[in-house]
Amino acid sequence: MKIYNTLTKKVEEFIPIDKNEVKMYTCGPTVYNYAHVGNLRTYIFEDIFEKTLNYIGYNVRRVMNITDIGHLTSDADTGEDKMVESAKKEGKSVLEIAAFYTDAFFNDIAKLNIKKPAVIEKATDLIDEYTKIISVLLDKGFAYISNGNVYFDIAKTNDYYKLSGRNEEDLIVGARSDVEEDKNKRNPFDFVLWFTSSKFENQALKWDSPWGTGYPGWHIECSGISLKHFGEYLDIHCGGVDNIFPHHTNEIAQSEAYVGHRWCNYWVHGEHLNDQSGKMSKSKGDFLTLSLLESKGYNPLVYRFFCLGSHYRNQLVFSYESLDTASSSYEKLLNRIKSIKKDESIIDEEKVEMYTIKFKSALEDDLNTANALTILFEVVKSDELNNNTKLFLIEDFDRVLSLDLLKNEEIVLDSELVKKIEQMIKERDEAKAEKNYTKADEIRNELLSMGIIIKDSREGTIYEIKESEKWN
Ligand code: AMP
Ligand code: ZN
Repeated sequence: MKIYNTLTKKVEEFIPIDKNEVKMYTCGPTVYNYAHVGNLRTYIFEDIFEKTLNYIGYNVRRVMNITDIGHLTSDADTGEDKMVESAKKEGKSVLEIAAFYTDAFFNDIAKLNIKKPAVIEKATDLIDEYTKIISVLLDKGFAYISNGNVYFDIAKTNDYYKLSGRNEEDLIVGARSDVEEDKNKRNPFDFVLWFTSSKFENQALKWDSPWGTGYPGWHIECSGISLKHFGEYLDIHCGGVDNIFPHHTNEIAQSEAYVGHRWCNYWVHGEHLNDQSGKMSKSKGDFLTLSLLESKGYNPLVYRFFCLGSHYRNQLVFSYESLDTASSSYEKLLNRIKSIKKDESIIDEEKVEMYTIKFKSALEDDLNTANALTILFEVVKSDELNNNTKLFLIEDFDRVLSLDLLKNEEIVLDSELVKKIEQMIKERDEAKAEKNYTKADEIRNELLSMGIIIKDSREGTIYEIKESEKWN
């Protein structure tokens, strides 16, 4: 397949290092607030990318971080820690904030039919990995200690600006708007690997390190998580365009200094969703969430459909008028598909091949989802395809599009699983009758970890599937 690589500024043939497993890292959310629909656009594009790779025959291992520490209100090293600020505002602990918004994030992506990445790693769970990398960077002379903090020294790298294609002068002009300047840095674009002294007073979570008690910077987290799960080589790294500088630039600098060679081959970035006044961002205060769209009556998949209608490398402007257009077009599509009844017709293999090649070609062309949708419409409207061939193709395309094109029925649970759940509920009821509430709670939690929520009702104990388990 062909994909645009920010590193080379070209659309390139994708060739994984190991053809049996594509290694894909996608930057996850900073869980200090709800995701806005702009963030979700990026996760939708990454989901389509992963599913396209699956569709064309690759096995993909995808890793995502949950940032629960170290991301300051500027993407550089100025401002407050976003998590600490939010905890203060909401009168909760940082851990409570992280748990709440991580769950909200999982619910959102489940509603958008975004596949759960194989590994989701909380930044605070890999502190040892970061300290190991930072020690090596100090030993190799790529990092220095200044006033207690550990900084990466960008002057020690050859190609610091290779990803962004910018230069120091441009960046200095852009950075002037930043409120404060860190006087401990040798170069204004050096970045913090480990904080001990500045930004410290309000920090709730801190760990011992060879450089004193403190906490990691945001950029080292993604490098550490990726290196831990993939080792020294990575095929694909994704994020939104705002991640190009400084986040991904810094990830490249420190990871390549650490491993001593090129680290990741393809850097793929999604363009922003804008609102009428410009880039959508959480710091603007009032921002659009998926729940808000739902409360206005929109099916979350309408938003997915809306995003797929435009190319991931084009900016997309959000408006309710365009969402309404997407909504009516999605409804029409579903209605049309509903009218295609399964019948006795024989699936036309030649036609199946012809249309799957067209569909694949669209996606292989730098993820042209709008063209892929056009092929879907062609199939649905075609006079030359019989019903069963249409249904076969629609189901097949939906492995990538994930628009629930044929899904009208409830999830059916495997009969063995139903037996197990019922047995566990019985044991819990017995434990409750014996006033053994510890055991009853243990069983409830075990069920929860299986994705089953139980509720006590007048008819006895009932259960339902947790929303975020409905991932495909
Ligand atoms: P954050 O939670 O702020 O770390 O951002 C999560 C992801 O959303 C990152 O990959 C960002 O690059 C991306 N992102 C941020 N703002 C937008 C936007 N307006 N449109 C699309 N993606 C965005
Ligand atoms: Zn990241």
